[in-house]
Amino acid sequence: MAIERTFSILKPDATERNITGAINALIEKAGLRIVAQKRIRMTRDQAETFYAVHKERPFFGELVDFMISGPVVVQVLEGEGAIAKYRDVMGATDPSKAADGTIRKAHAKSIGENSVHGSDAAETAKIEIAQFFSGNEIVG
Ligand code: GDP
Repeated sequence: MAIERTFSILKPDATERNITGAINALIEKAGLRIVAQKRIRMTRDQAETFYAVHKERPFFGELVDFMISGPVVVQVLEGEGAIAKYRDVMGATDPSKAADGTIRKAHAKSIGENSVHGSDAAETAKIEIAQFFSGNEIVG
């Protein structure tokens, strides 16, 4: 399988509980390499752009408010089949449906405050990485 890069966010519920290291340990245990990482506070504009695909959904306002409620850690992860692999490691959006051993099963608080984001396809990974990182910040 090809080496890919995917975009990850450790969300405000994770930074608030000081569990970013615990989540990174699960990421690395799965064979994914963190090739870029920074802690930022998203602006409302950045969050609305990032989640624009969901803007007609009833939870959009709540989602944007949550994503700007505290610091987040944005990351680029690299590895074989990284996009699908990270989705597997994250687990289902709703933690009550997430499989044992996944990040969301272990750490997510609710369907909204679910600790992590991961790109869902190669095209979105490229767009999401470019929204937050310049090429020279990614060191593989
Ligand atoms: P993901 O790809 O597993 O992150 O899930 P989606 O793309 O469907 O949704 C994006 C994000 O929106 C999720 O990770 C949640 O943070 C949030 N979200 C999804 N569904 C709900 C919901 O029913 N209520 C709330 N408050 N947030 C939701």
